[in-house]
Amino acid sequence: MNEHVGIILKSTGSWYIVQENNEIYSCKIRGKLRVEGYKSTNPVAVGDKVKFNLLDDGTGVITEILDRKNCIIRQATNLSRKEHLIACNVDQAIIVVSLKYPATPTEFIDRFLVSTEIYDIPAKIIFNKIDIYGDEQKEQLAELTETYEKIGYKCYNVSAETGENLDAVKNLLKDKISALAGNSGVGKSTIINKISPGLNIKIAEISKKYRTGKHTTTFAQMYKLSFGGYVIDTPGIRAFGLDFIEKDLIAQNFPEMFALLGKCKYYNCKHIDEPGCAVKQAFEDGKIAFSRYKSYLSIMLEDSSKYRIDPYK
Ligand code: GDP
Ligand code: ZN
Repeated sequence: MNEHVGIILKSTGSWYIVQENNEIYSCKIRGKLRVEGYKSTNPVAVGDKVKFNLLDDGTGVITEILDRKNCIIRQATNLSRKEHLIACNVDQAIIVVSLKYPATPTEFIDRFLVSTEIYDIPAKIIFNKIDIYGDEQKEQLAELTETYEKIGYKCYNVSAETGENLDAVKNLLKDKISALAGNSGVGKSTIINKISPGLNIKIAEISKKYRTGKHTTTFAQMYKLSFGGYVIDTPGIRAFGLDFIEKDLIAQNFPEMFALLGKCKYYNCKHIDEPGCAVKQAFEDGKIAFSRYKSYLSIMLEDSSKYRIDPYK
C-alpha cells in the first residue's frame, strides 16, 4: 500500500514538508482538499497529521487531513474575514520571558495567556536569563512566579547560558507539540539549541523576518526535538493575538477572575468602574495581582472596533 501518514513540519504555500518516522517528504496537496468547518486561506498547517501517497519522483500528494485536536488561527489580513491557520494539534503553549535585556512587559505575558485560555491550550511560562538578574529582577521573578503559579501557570526559572533548570524544560517539551512564543531576544533559540543540539534552530532570524511584514500571510515552522516532541516557532505573538476575541470573553479567560463572575452587582459588569464589582473588590483586597488587573484594563480599554467573535472554529 502506498499510503503514508505523517505530520506537517513546514508549509511554504504550495509545498509541504511532511515527516513520517525519520523520513522527510516534500508534498503537494491534492487539488480540492476541503476541510469542513474551516474557512481558512491555507488548508493545512504545521502540526496537521495527514495521509499522503508517494509519486514515482519521490514527492507526495496529501489526500486527507486527519482530525484536529485544535488550531491556532488568526485573521489573514486586517480587512479580510478569512482566517489563517497558524498551527494545529498543539499540546501546550509556552512563553519565554526575560526580566532583563530585554525585559518582557507583563502585559505581553497576560495577552498571551488570555489567548491560550481561549484556545484551551495549557500554557507555561519560562523565565530565562536568571543568571543576569540583579536584586530587583530577582524580587520581580519571585513575585511573578507566585502570581502565575497561584492561578495555574507553571513557571520555570532557567538560564540557557548556565544550563540551570534546562532539564526541567526538556521534560516539559518531551513528546509534546509545543508552540513557543516570546519577544525577540529572550533566548528561545538558545534554549532549544541547548536542549536539542544539532537542531540549529534560528528562531530569532525567523521571527525578525515575520515582524517586518505587518499582517501578511506568515507560516510557522515546526522542529522535531532530538529527545522526542516538537516545537513550533510561532510567527511573533500575533499568532496568539486577541484580534478574534469579543471583549465580553476576556474576564472569563483570566482564571482568577473567572470564579468571581456572577458575583458582581450588575450581570453585564465589565469590571472596570462599576459599583458592586466583585472583581474590583478582589483586586482591592490584594487577591488579584496589580499587574494582571492592569493588563485586563488595557485589553478592555483598547479600541474594540476590530474585534469580532468566534475563535473556536
Ligand atoms: P530569541 O530571539 O528569543 O531566539 O533569542 P536568542 O536565543 O537569539 O538569544 C538572544 C541573546 O540572548 C543571545 O545573545 C543569547 O546568547 C542570549 N541569551 C540567551 N539565553 C540567555 C541566558 O540564559 N542568559 C544570558 N545571559 N544570555 C542569554
Ligand atoms: Zn464586575
